[in-house]
Amino acid sequence: MRGADGTNIVEPVPISAIEHWSYCPRQCGLIHLESIWDENLFTLRGTKAHRRVDEDQDRVERGRRVLRGLPIWSERYGLVGKADVVELLPAEPPYREAIPVEYKVGRRTDKPHALLQACAQAICLEEMFGLEVRQADVFFVESRERVSHELTADLREQTLAIVEAIRAMMAGPRPPPPVADRRCRKCSLIDACQPFAVERGMGQPEARLYEPLPLGELP
Ligand code: SF4
Repeated sequence: MRGADGTNIVEPVPISAIEHWSYCPRQCGLIHLESIWDENLFTLRGTKAHRRVDEDQDRVERGRRVLRGLPIWSERYGLVGKADVVELLPAEPPYREAIPVEYKVGRRTDKPHALLQACAQAICLEEMFGLEVRQADVFFVESRERVSHELTADLREQTLAIVEAIRAMMAGPRPPPPVADRRCRKCSLIDACQPFAVERGMGQPEARLYEPLPLGELP
């Protein structure tokens, strides 16, 4: 993909990685650098809710076209992914407005993880449709609340800074250190991560697994 300067080829960052990074950078590294994945109750609930959204049909509702599971990308910022729901206004082209709606399992929360992801989707939609996207929404599945957010310059800046941090992390060589706090209790990767052992220093031998051996020491 072309970089923001129009010339560099950059490794695309999966939009889903933004939510993982904002929850825990190490979780993002384990998934997107080490290709480790495991399920728990929370991830299974998420998969089920997103499957329902994906299986629903595109349709026209309240004067707007509603697209589901839309593949999205940005050449400019090196992003790829899929939007849960995109609403286009009016219902027929030429479209004047696009609103991404990110589905989030659980009740309403002020945590910004899903909003950052919706902001990245908005950045992609602007490039794909040639529109200015002014709003990104998050729909909380359990409490059935839809919260609209203005796409401020600060929010865009914060989102793109995370994208660049993820890109740097994905270049290796190893995932970031563990957060080792209450987030770990809900994290499906706790067995692979071993956050408290790594934090206590027992992870030093594990960390060295990622150091390439000097050529002379290769078996
Ligand atoms: S167990 Fe904790 S430190 Fe490890 S990836 Fe999950 S949240 Fe991050």
